[in-house]
Amino acid sequence: MEFNKFDLHPNVAAGVKAAGYVTPTPIQVQAIPPVLNGQDVMGLAQTGTGKTAAFVLPILNRLMQGGQRGKLRALIIAPTRELSEQIHEAIGNLGKQTRVRSATIYGGVGMGPQIQKLRNGAEIVVACPGRLLDHINQRTINLSNVEVLVLDEADRMFDMGFLPDIKKIISHVPAKRQTLMFSATMPDDIRRLTQEVLHAPVTVQVDHTAPANTVTHALYPVEQHLKTALLLELLKHTDTDSVLVFTRTKHRAKRVGQQLEKSGYKAVSLQGNLSQNKRQEALDGFRKGKYQVLVATDIAARGIDVSSISHVINYDMPDTADAYTHRIGRTGRAAKTGDAFTFTTREDNEMVRAIERVLREKVERRTLEGFNYKTPTPARDTEFARPPREQQRRSPHASASAKPKGTYAGRTETRTAGKSEVKKTSWRSPAARRFSWSKVDNNRAHNQVI
Ligand code: AMP
Repeated sequence: MEFNKFDLHPNVAAGVKAAGYVTPTPIQVQAIPPVLNGQDVMGLAQTGTGKTAAFVLPILNRLMQGGQRGKLRALIIAPTRELSEQIHEAIGNLGKQTRVRSATIYGGVGMGPQIQKLRNGAEIVVACPGRLLDHINQRTINLSNVEVLVLDEADRMFDMGFLPDIKKIISHVPAKRQTLMFSATMPDDIRRLTQEVLHAPVTVQVDHTAPANTVTHALYPVEQHLKTALLLELLKHTDTDSVLVFTRTKHRAKRVGQQLEKSGYKAVSLQGNLSQNKRQEALDGFRKGKYQVLVATDIAARGIDVSSISHVINYDMPDTADAYTHRIGRTGRAAKTGDAFTFTTREDNEMVRAIERVLREKVERRTLEGFNYKTPTPARDTEFARPPREQQRRSPHASASAKPKGTYAGRTETRTAGKSEVKKTSWRSPAARRFSWSKVDNNRAHNQVI
């Protein structure tokens, strides 16, 4: 199957070619024909499957087929600014030859430039719900010409409490329209929403494990206090390209990032506390290769789209099997392969079983040769002592960073923060910066805990 089978407008086909896409991904094979046909579509697919192009290409095609130019005809709603920017970027890339104008709308930046772009005749708008409602209320956006409405990552928007906003927005969009909804999961609330907003939809689904087909999974059982040492040793012995490391809390993301930097890696951490500018700098730096390791929590990493991630390392186990597939969806993108390494402690056994059920395979347990797994917990260090049973239990739906104080993760963080915070080096020589990150001598860092 090749893209020319879709019979796209030549200018859209040129964009596909320029983007270097040769073979459509499974979600594209299934979704593009009904979307081109004007049907409503419910797409069950997660990030990394090529779902963006599955709706962007037919939208561009529609706009090239005629109709009024310079009117807002396609509205895409996404949960985060990052995802909105990525969709906008995809429209720019795939639509390079179409002269279709798209604009993003999200909070945290001025309304003025957004209003200007809308006035200049944006035909596609990619928006986050809150700011879009502001524009609707201030009558600075006109949705009366919208022909296509896309709800991307519907389950995430639902998790983030956007459902009431979305319903209000939909009430301002013409009832006669094409609606496309994409979601990684299909909880009851999303099912109800599809019945409300989609008309006779075609449901397309890529197997939950589809992106994992290009991903090799491995578990690394390790004691909690040796995770950082294991991470450093693993990076030293693994041929990596770009590495995304997931931690359970933002404090730990920060400290792991610092520890990696201290050991000579070009690393950066992404935490909720960062200003939008710093966050963008970190993401751009990671995308462009300035940083080879990005450490983040699930929430901070939402919407990251970096096609060259070779390794996802779960420093901490995710809270749900679904979060696992979301995380590893960041590697093994499209035609590439990737590795997903997960550090597991004894407390994680139940989650390991849940993940194996989703993957429908037993995941290989690995030990790293030469690594000293026997290093004891540092003296006087009670932070890694196992918590009482009831504190280990986590709600399967609890958000990773929204843990109440007093849980295991919270206690670990607090104690560690006061005890072994990594000292900041105020200056590093250019020579140190040039250090080849994969060849760094990490021996010094061995068995340090954070
Ligand atoms: P998405 O799931 O939309 O976030 O896409 C994941 C990644 O796959 C993005 O980096 C896309 O540029 C890339 N991609 C999408 N479709 C294709 C394709 N048919 N061939 C190669 N790469 C693709």
